[in-house]
Amino acid sequence: MYRRTFCKAALSTAVAATLPGCGSKSKSGLGSPSTVVNAVSSSGGELSIEAAAVSELAESLDGRLLLQGDEGYATAKQVWNGMFDNKKPAMVVRCFSTDDVVKAINFGRERDLLLSVKCGGHSFPGKSTSDGGMMIDLSSMHSVDVDAQGKTMRADGGSLLGHLDVAATKHNLMTTTGIVSHTGTGGFTLGGGVGRTDRKMGLAIDNLVGATVVTAAGDVVRANETENADLFWGLRGGGGNFGIATEFVYRLHPFNPMVYGGNLSYAVNKDFLNFFAELHDTLPYEANIEPQLLPGLGDNGETLAVVGVTWCGDHVAGEKALAPMLAFPGLLSGKLAPLAYHDVQTGADGLLGHGKQYYLKSGFLNELSPGAIDVIVEFANRGVVNSWFQHMGGVTATVAPDATAFTHRSAAFNFGVMYIGEDPSQNDAKIAAVREYYKEMEPYMAGFYTNLNEESDQKTWGNYGPNYPRLVDLKKKYDPSNLFRLNANIRPS
Ligand SMILES: Cc1cc2nc3c(=O)[nH]c(=O)nc-3n(C[C@H](O)[C@H](O)[C@H](O)COP(=O)(O)OP(=O)(O)OC[C@H]3O[C@@H](n4cnc5c(N)ncnc54)[C@H](O)[C@@H]3O)c2cc1C
Repeated sequence: MYRRTFCKAALSTAVAATLPGCGSKSKSGLGSPSTVVNAVSSSGGELSIEAAAVSELAESLDGRLLLQGDEGYATAKQVWNGMFDNKKPAMVVRCFSTDDVVKAINFGRERDLLLSVKCGGHSFPGKSTSDGGMMIDLSSMHSVDVDAQGKTMRADGGSLLGHLDVAATKHNLMTTTGIVSHTGTGGFTLGGGVGRTDRKMGLAIDNLVGATVVTAAGDVVRANETENADLFWGLRGGGGNFGIATEFVYRLHPFNPMVYGGNLSYAVNKDFLNFFAELHDTLPYEANIEPQLLPGLGDNGETLAVVGVTWCGDHVAGEKALAPMLAFPGLLSGKLAPLAYHDVQTGADGLLGHGKQYYLKSGFLNELSPGAIDVIVEFANRGVVNSWFQHMGGVTATVAPDATAFTHRSAAFNFGVMYIGEDPSQNDAKIAAVREYYKEMEPYMAGFYTNLNEESDQKTWGNYGPNYPRLVDLKKKYDPSNLFRLNANIRPS
C-alpha cells in the first residue's frame, strides 16, 4: 500500500526533507519517504494521496499518523473482532485532541478518502476498520471527569466503559454502561447503550446531557437540549452517522458500588423459560436478570442457562424480590450475595476478549412468547452456538419512541445468538448455525439493535421506524456526502 521509494529522483531533496520519516521530529513514524500513499475512496475506488500532504498532516497533529510498516501501526489498527483484524487501513490517525479529529476529517473529506472511526474497536461487523481507508483512532482520548456535586460525568470520545465505571463508582454514582468494560463509549452511547442498570436509569442515551461533535464539514459543535437540539436528538440512537463525538456528558445517579447478585445455573427447558418469561416483567426496576444459554456446560455436555443477576438497590429488598429465583426447583447451582459492581462489570471481559472470532445476530423481543420458547429449547438441545438475553424495560420503556432516535422502547429483551471461537476454519459452519437459529427467532423479534446486528440497507432503514425520515434530514444537514458511512448507515437521500 505504502510505496517505499526511498527518496527517488522524482522526489526532490527539498520535498523529501519534509516527509515525516526523513525528519527528526517525525510524528508518523514513516521509515522512509515516498511519493504517494495508495488508499481507497469512499466508494471503493483507488486513490493515490501525495506523500507530502500526508506528511504535512502528520506534522500538524498533536497525535500521530501511522502508515503500514510503521512501528505501532499493527497495534493501532487493531479491532476487537478477530474476523476483521486482518484489514489494513492505509493510515491510522491516532488523535490526541478535538483539533486532530478536525484535521483528519478535513483531510479525508477533501480527498474523498474512506473513513472509519475507532473508539473501543468493538463493532461486531468490523465497521471501525477498512482495507485502504483512513482509520480515525480516538482510543488515546480517554480522560473522564466527574462533577460529583452536579452529578454529571464528562468523558472523552475515545473512552472505554471501564473508564466510566471506575470514575463514577468512586463517588458512589453511576450511569448506564454495558456488560464488558473494554467496550468503547463512542459506539455504545451513540447506538443507544443497554446495560445492567438500564431498567433503573434508562439507556446511556437517556442519560446523555450533551456531546461535542466534529461534523463532516470539520465544524466543532455542541449538541444538547438547547444547542443544536436536532443533532442531539439524532446522536441518541443514530450512531456515528452525523459526526465524530469527541466528548460526552452523562447524568449520574446515586449508586451503591456493592450490588446484590450472582450467577444462577438452570437446565434449559420449557419450565425454566416459562418461569423466566413470567418473572422478568414483575420485577422492580432495580433487578436485571440475564440468562446466557451456554452449550456444553452441563455434566453431560448439555446447554445450561447461566443467569447473571444484578440488583442495584437496597439489598434486603433485593433478597425478597429475587427469592423466587432461588426457590425455583430447576436451580442447579449458584448463589446470590453482595458483590462489587466492578467485579460484575468486568466478569465477562476475558470470555469476550480481543482477537477471537465472533459472529452475532440479534433482535428485540417485546415478550418471551411460547413460540419463541419452543425455538430456544430446540436450539439449546442442538447445543451448537450460544444465545443470551439482555433485560430491558423499566425506565427505558417510559421514554417515547420518538423522543430520541432510538425507537425500540417496548423491548423486554435484546436477544442474541452468538458464536465465539478461536479457529477461523470453523467460521463458515458456525456462522451458518447462528443464521439458522436467528432465522427461526426472527418472527418473534421486533426490530434489532443497530449496535449489534448488521442487516441490508433496506432493513436497517426500516429498523429506525418512524424516526427514519427525520434521520435522513439530519444526515443531509450534517453529512451531505455520507463521509461517515461505515456504520448502520443512513444515506442523505
Ligand atoms: C464484547 C462486547 C460487549 C458489548 N456489550 C454491550 C452492552 O452491554 N450494551 C450495548 O448496548 N452494546 C454492547 N455491545 C455493542 C456495542 O455497543 C457496539 O459494538 C459499539 O459499536 C461498540 O462501541 P465501540 O466504540 O467500541 O466501537 P467501535 O468499533 O470503535 O466503533 C463502532 C462504530 O461506532 C461509531 N463510533 C465509535 N465511536 C465514535 C465517536 N466517538 N463518534 C462518532 N462515532 C463513533 C463509528 O460509526 C464506528 O464505526 C457490546 C459489544 C461487544 C463487542
